[in-house]
Amino acid sequence: MSILVTGGAGFIGSHVVDRLVEMGEDVIIVDNLSSGSKEYVNPEADLHVIDLTDSEKLEEVMRGVEEVWHIAANPDVRIGSENPQAIYDNNVLATYRLLEAMRKVGVGRIVFTSTSTVYGEAPTPTPEDYPTIPISIYGASKVACEALIASYCHTFEMQSWIYRFANVIGKRSNHGVIYDFIMKLKRNPNELEILGDGEQNKSYIYISDCVDGMFYGLKSNEVVNIFNIGSEDQVKVKRIAEIVCEEMGLNPVFRFTGGRRGWKGDVPVMLLSIEKLKAIGWRPKYSSEEAVRLATRDLLDDLGR
Ligand code: NAD
Repeated sequence: MSILVTGGAGFIGSHVVDRLVEMGEDVIIVDNLSSGSKEYVNPEADLHVIDLTDSEKLEEVMRGVEEVWHIAANPDVRIGSENPQAIYDNNVLATYRLLEAMRKVGVGRIVFTSTSTVYGEAPTPTPEDYPTIPISIYGASKVACEALIASYCHTFEMQSWIYRFANVIGKRSNHGVIYDFIMKLKRNPNELEILGDGEQNKSYIYISDCVDGMFYGLKSNEVVNIFNIGSEDQVKVKRIAEIVCEEMGLNPVFRFTGGRRGWKGDVPVMLLSIEKLKAIGWRPKYSSEEAVRLATRDLLDDLGR
């Protein structure tokens, strides 16, 4: 099958591409390389350096495609409070342009990477049918994307698989808390700044578990299929800092910036209910803490230790 992966040069997208290539699929990647890297691109895949808002070029590469995995986005929650336009352009507008290209060319299947932040500050573990009332611009943009996708599916006879991820971590992840801690400690091994009070308690999922979950979800055959993907437990930010320090062999002083949230729009407590995906056979292999340790080792390897 010919599959187009947006964001296939990024962290999660490049792992999805590797899996699709392993399965023998023909993979076309659309990525503007804003945060992705050519180094992550599987040599068997066909990379097109295109911005998703460029309708003309998008329609050209869409010809002959049978399925789209829409993974590209601006995934930085923090940017939302400074530059909402960047989130709107790369998430909402990009998704609209992609859906339009799919409709015009006649591509009927879309897999989409959404986020736990669509729920805002919800009771935990949060099930898929809990109302989506985001507290970040990023979360809002993903609700908008989900709504566009669902409406295109019902209006133009398309089918979608929407995955709401907890924090995904592992090799090639060049943003997020573990990456931040490693970079800060490389600059100053004696002190580690921790955003917030360190008590933020969230679920982390290792990249291979996340990719497995996405393929399990494809067994579901509704018009719009929505699944949470996360681990079944949480780990506190302070514990993540301790694990990173253990793995780097350092013993710095922790300096907390204070407050419940690390940044505006941060949801300090997050755990998703994963019962819906477990009901069709998927189980995450790693706990949050195991995922954090594995991902720390991966990133230290990526960064040459
Ligand atoms: P990433 O930044 O590594 O990957 C995003 C990719 O999209 C990059 O390669 C980037 O160059 C590309 N891109 C961005 N804007 C583009 C545009 N306008 N046109 C073409 N390409 C563009 O991020 P990631 O962590 O791999 O996230 C992948 C997806 O998963 C995103 O949709 C993100 O919102 C979602 N997600 C990630 C996490 C996480 O913890 N990493 C959690 C929840 C949801």
